[in-house]
Amino acid sequence: MSYTKSKLVAAREVCIEQVDMPQDIAPDHMRLKLATASICGTDMHYFRHFANAGFYLDYPVTLGHEACAYVADANGHDFAPGQLVAINPVIECGTCPACLRGDINMCPTKRFPGSATTKPHIDGFFREEFDFPARCCKAVADGVNPDHLTFAEPLACALHSVNRAGIKPGDKVLVTGCGPMGLLAVVGAVAKGAQADVTDLKPDSIAAAKAVGATAGFVIGQDDMTQLTSSYDVVIEASGSPHAYNQALDAVRKQGVISVLSLIQPTDVPINLHLNALKEVTSVGSILFTDEFADAVALIESGTVNFDAITAAKFPVSRTQDACEMMADGKAVGKVLIKPDA
Ligand SMILES: [Zn+2]
Ligand SMILES: [Zn+2]
Repeated sequence: MSYTKSKLVAAREVCIEQVDMPQDIAPDHMRLKLATASICGTDMHYFRHFANAGFYLDYPVTLGHEACAYVADANGHDFAPGQLVAINPVIECGTCPACLRGDINMCPTKRFPGSATTKPHIDGFFREEFDFPARCCKAVADGVNPDHLTFAEPLACALHSVNRAGIKPGDKVLVTGCGPMGLLAVVGAVAKGAQADVTDLKPDSIAAAKAVGATAGFVIGQDDMTQLTSSYDVVIEASGSPHAYNQALDAVRKQGVISVLSLIQPTDVPINLHLNALKEVTSVGSILFTDEFADAVALIESGTVNFDAITAAKFPVSRTQDACEMMADGKAVGKVLIKPDA
């Protein structure tokens, strides 16, 4: 039986093909059928530029590293056929000093689907069937909605930035930027018992943030931002804008923490680093996650998060181009999901 597979062949050009799975499954892999995938900001960089952060794709690749799937063939591993699994897309080596410390996100030879940094590239999840290492798959409780479970990877990234910031119950947190990662940072901060406020350019995005637990929202260019000065224990930067980093330096309290969740691209915008010194700000970076993947799955299983409120649209694999275009034009509020065609 052939299945539908999308492939990014050039910037802004996705082709769709019908292909057959290979006969053999690698011994450490299982065969999986897509339940739901979702589009990440990283996928958007590849879609726009055929590159991310200066790393170009060597050849066409299937994008997508956020997904959950049903077990089609457990291939001898301890999973039941039809079991819904969350997929941790980080294939760490497991033996280097970083992996032995548990810092799988720092593994220098980790492999990641749909990424130019993994050579040879591994096809990602915007396709109806794929094989993936069994050890990266996590069975979930019965009744979990796959359209929620696909948030496990980005939620794990958001929880990692929350943990890097040391957010505690009762903390006042500001999240700058209400794209999907900012929205999930709100989810993570609220889950820790913090109060989360947000900033964004779009009132719609702020409304979505409030639907997942944000307290107050401030529209950039409309509301008075001076009221935020030195008000927050922690600021999580999730917009990717260097201007937002300056806003974070302003909004964080003395001896507070700025946690940078976004990938701010190299920039000529002057950063007010004097505030870093004068306020004794601690600034932490954040990339991927370590053991937060299990925490993210548990939070999704709890059913307490309104993921539907931060879902913009759903497209079949055959319309991956349209899904990426919707995400690229910047008007979508929340995640764009990709589902099997059948
Ligand atoms: Zn992602
Ligand atoms: Zn390693």
